[in-house]
Amino acid sequence: MPENPGAFNSKAARMDETLVFRILATVLGLVLGSFYNVCIHRGLTGESIANPPRSKCPKCGHFLAWWENVPLLSWLALRGRCRSCRQPISARYPLVEALSGAVALALAVKFGPGMKFAVYLAFSGLLTVLAFIDLASFMLPLWPMIIGAALAAACAPLFLDIALMDALLAAGLGAGTFWLVRWAYRRLRGFEGLGEGDVWLMLLLGPLTGVRHLPFLILASGLLLIAFNLPMLLRTRGDDEAHPMRTPIPYGPFLCLAAVLAVLVGDEVLGWYLGVMR
Ligand SMILES: [Zn+2]
Repeated sequence: MPENPGAFNSKAARMDETLVFRILATVLGLVLGSFYNVCIHRGLTGESIANPPRSKCPKCGHFLAWWENVPLLSWLALRGRCRSCRQPISARYPLVEALSGAVALALAVKFGPGMKFAVYLAFSGLLTVLAFIDLASFMLPLWPMIIGAALAAACAPLFLDIALMDALLAAGLGAGTFWLVRWAYRRLRGFEGLGEGDVWLMLLLGPLTGVRHLPFLILASGLLLIAFNLPMLLRTRGDDEAHPMRTPIPYGPFLCLAAVLAVLVGDEVLGWYLGVMR
């Protein structure tokens, strides 16, 4: 038994509160993931997000009952098929929900309850939607990125402990570097190496990470891109048209993933790196 049972109890209560917050954050992440799925689908088809308000099967138009719309569980219960037309439901739906739940939990563990958690949760949602639209269509929608960039620059000094100058400099440096790489690549190779959308995306990501995490962001996104596409990069060789360097790969999703990692573990990685260098 501890010597001071009062102190022990308050410590136990605090642990309970932390646990409850993490569970609630994960559930919130799963539910938000469901909403992101709607945004991704309607972003790809051009339908309005608000209208119609009820979710339906994209194949047969069957309106989903509430129990067919529970994050992750419904997809598992229906074994990945629509109840009405038995057509397979894309694995993207449970994947987005699981990812959103995992990111919400990781943010809850990192920041605890507060504005930092809420703001990063909201922006991770925007990044999730952008990443999956880019994966499916090789296009990043311009206006969500521009509005997101303005909001990110405003939120950085207010809620994220990133000075306004730092946020603006990160946006400018990130987008400027990518613009330069894009220009040089086109100049040297004669075709597009980096999409215009990726340049705009850096305006949004810079204020969320600050200048100090830009090197991590760019390095990690490159490594993730190579790791995820290694089978494809190794498979193709021979004639020029089929050469892997000419096969388009969306870069946006890896930038978004690297930005979330920079927020979660960027400080630790930077601390470790500076420790090794010293
Ligand atoms: Zn259906």
